[in-house]
Amino acid sequence: MVDPTEVAKQVLSIMGKSSEEDIKLLAKAYSMAYYAHENFYRDSGEPFIAHPVEVCKILAQMNVDIQTLVAALLHDAVEDSEGRVKIEDVEKEFGNQIARIVDGVTKVSKLNAPVDASDSKLKLETIQKMLFAMAEDIRVIFVKLADRLHNMRTIEFVKDEQKKMYKAKETLEIYAPIAHKMGIYSIKWELEDLSFKILNRNEYNRIKVLVAEKKKEREQRIKDYTETLQKALYENEIEARVEGRFKHYYGIWQKLKEKGKNFNEIYDLFGIRAIVNDVPTCYNVLGIVHSIWKPLPGRIKDYIAAPKSNGYRSLHTTVITGYGEPLEIQIRDKEMHAEAEYGLIAHWIYKDGINVKTMQKWVNQLLEWRRELTKDLSGLEEFKKELQMDEVFVFTPKGEVKHLPVGATPIDFAYSIHTDIGHKFAGAKVNGKLVPINYQLRNGDLVEIVVGKTAKPSLDWLKYAKSPRTKAKIRKYFREQLQTELIDRGIDVLRRISKQLSKSIEEIMESNVIKKYLQSQGISQEEFYSRIAEGTITYGELINLLNPLIDKSRVKPEEKKQKPSSPSSVVEVSGLKNIEIHIAKCCGPVPGDEIIGVIGKRGLTIHSVTCPNVRRVESDRIFEARWNGDSQGKYETTLKITIRDKADIGQIVQLLENKGVTVLKVLFASTKRTCSTVLLSLIVNNLKQLDEAKRSLEAVDNIVSVERGAST
Ligand code: MN
Repeated sequence: MVDPTEVAKQVLSIMGKSSEEDIKLLAKAYSMAYYAHENFYRDSGEPFIAHPVEVCKILAQMNVDIQTLVAALLHDAVEDSEGRVKIEDVEKEFGNQIARIVDGVTKVSKLNAPVDASDSKLKLETIQKMLFAMAEDIRVIFVKLADRLHNMRTIEFVKDEQKKMYKAKETLEIYAPIAHKMGIYSIKWELEDLSFKILNRNEYNRIKVLVAEKKKEREQRIKDYTETLQKALYENEIEARVEGRFKHYYGIWQKLKEKGKNFNEIYDLFGIRAIVNDVPTCYNVLGIVHSIWKPLPGRIKDYIAAPKSNGYRSLHTTVITGYGEPLEIQIRDKEMHAEAEYGLIAHWIYKDGINVKTMQKWVNQLLEWRRELTKDLSGLEEFKKELQMDEVFVFTPKGEVKHLPVGATPIDFAYSIHTDIGHKFAGAKVNGKLVPINYQLRNGDLVEIVVGKTAKPSLDWLKYAKSPRTKAKIRKYFREQLQTELIDRGIDVLRRISKQLSKSIEEIMESNVIKKYLQSQGISQEEFYSRIAEGTITYGELINLLNPLIDKSRVKPEEKKQKPSSPSSVVEVSGLKNIEIHIAKCCGPVPGDEIIGVIGKRGLTIHSVTCPNVRRVESDRIFEARWNGDSQGKYETTLKITIRDKADIGQIVQLLENKGVTVLKVLFASTKRTCSTVLLSLIVNNLKQLDEAKRSLEAVDNIVSVERGAST
C-alpha cells in the first residue's frame, strides 16, 4: 500500500492546501478504502483503489470541500468490498454527513438509469429514485459526476460491448444533462465527447478529421488573435489572461446535425476568452476588443447584466477579424470563470458553502431536471397522474432533507424528526413564518418546529397527519395513555377492596392467590389492573379470587353499621301486631316506595306494590302497610344497570359511594361483546337517596339504563 499520508498530501496539493487535520482525515479515508478494495481489480487490470483516488483528484481540481474529498475516496467502499466495509463503519469513523454522501452515491449507482426504456412507468420510477438519492446532499452528485467521468475515461477497457454502449448512453442521457443543468461545463463536455466516441465512432472520427484538417491553420490564427488582444490590454494597463478555446466534438456534431450546416459554415469552432479581475474591467475589455475588430451587429450578449438560467455570466461578442472570419470572444472575471467551468460546485462550495439555502436550490434544480427528463414521456392521462410526485422534499433548519408524502403537514414533519418532537408539537414555522397546523408542505420548504414544554398530542392531530407513520405514532401515544389510566383505575378498585379486607394492596398482590392467578393467566400486574378496570375481570370474580384472603374472625365495625335495619321498627301494618316482619329481597323496597305486606309461614314480608311476585298471591294474605313516619335506616335493594361496551366498575362504585350508597355486591348478569348487565346489591337510606344515585348513574356516558332490579 502506498503511504496514505502521501496520497492525502498529493490530493490536497492540487488545491494548494496542506492542513494537518485534512491530511489525517484523507489518509484515514484512503486506508479504509484500500482495505475495502484490496484484491479487487479494474477492467484495466489496475488495483481497484486507483479509481476512488482518481475520482478524488478530479474533485480536488474543482476545489470542493474536504467532506466531498473523503466521500470520494470512500464512494465505492460499501458497494464494491464484498461487505468488508459497511455504511455504519463509515458513519462511525467519519460522521453522519460523509456517510450520507457515500450512501447517496451508492444508491444512485445501484439504479440503472432508464436508458432507452420503453416502459415509461419504469423510467419514471427510476428517475424518481435517483432524484431521492441525489436530494440527500448536493455533494452526492458531485461525487457521482466525477465517478462517472473517471469511468468514462477508462471505458475502453470494458470488454462487454453491451455494457459499454449502455454506460455511454446513460452518460449522455442522464449525467451530461445533469452537469449541464449545474453549469459544470468542463465535465459536461468531456462526458459528451467520451460517450459520443463509444456510441457513434464513425461520426466521432469524421468530426475529428474535419477539425484536424485545418488544425494547424486554426492554431496559428488563435495564437495570432490572443497575442493581438493581450498586447492591446497590456497597453491599456489591464491585467488579464487571454486564452484560446476549441469547441468539443459532440457540440460540433450536434450543430451540424441540428442546423443542417456545412462544416465550413460553423464559425464558432474556436474562439478566445479574456479573464480579468473584476466586473468593470469586463466592460473596458469589450470596448478595447471592438476598437481592434469590428463587431457583428446583434451578436453582443451581456450575460453579466442578465445571467443565463443556470447562473452563467460573461460578456459575449462576435467580431470580424483581419482574416475576414467571425470570431467569438468571451470576457469574464475570475469568479465567473470558475462558475462557468465548475458551475454550481463553484457557487455552492466555495461561495455559499453547504447550507440550507444551497440545499433548497439544489432540490429545485433536481425538480426542474426531473420535469425535463419526464417531459417526453407518454402524454397519456394515466402517466400524467404517475408523474405527480408522491413525495415532497422539505428541509430541517440544519439543511437535512426530509421526504414526506404529498399533502404532509407540519405534524408529519415533527414526527419524522423524532417522536418526542412530535409529542411536544406546539406550532411550526415555514420559511420563517408561522403556519397553521393544516398547512400543506411544499417542495423546498424550510420547516422549523416550535415545541412546548407542556404540549401534549391531541386526537385532532389525526385529522392533519398525512403519513400513516405519523398517525400510528399518535395512536400509540393515546393507547399508552389509556393504558396508564386503566391501570390507575384498576389499582383504585383493588385498593378499595383491600381496605375492606384490612390489607394493603401490596399484601394482596404479593399473596400466593394472586401470584398463582397471574401465572395461570399469563399476565402482568399491569394487565391485571387494567383488566379489572375494563371489567374483563369482574368485581364478583375478583371477590371470589380474594376469598381465601378474607380474615373471617375480623369484621370491621363499619360493616356492622352497614347491616340493614330491622324491618319491624320501620313498617306499620294495619291490623297486625307483634309479627315478624321481613323485607322482600325480590323487589327490595325502600322508604318512599309504596308497599304492601304479604303474610306467610315466616311472618309478614314487605313487597313493593309493583312487585310481580305479589300478583299471584290470594287477596286474603295481603295487608296494607306503610313506612313509619321518619323511617331512617339501612335498606338493601338492587339496581340493574345496562352498560355499552365494558363496564368500568371502579367508576360506578365511586359514583354510588359519593352519594352515600354502600355497594354490597356486584354481579355480572351477562357480558356480551356490545353490552353487559350488572346487578348491584346496595344499601340505601331511602328512595330519595336511591333516585339520586340512579340519576347520577344515568348521566354516565356508556350506561344505557338503570332499573330497580330483582336480587338473585
Ligand atoms: Mn466508482
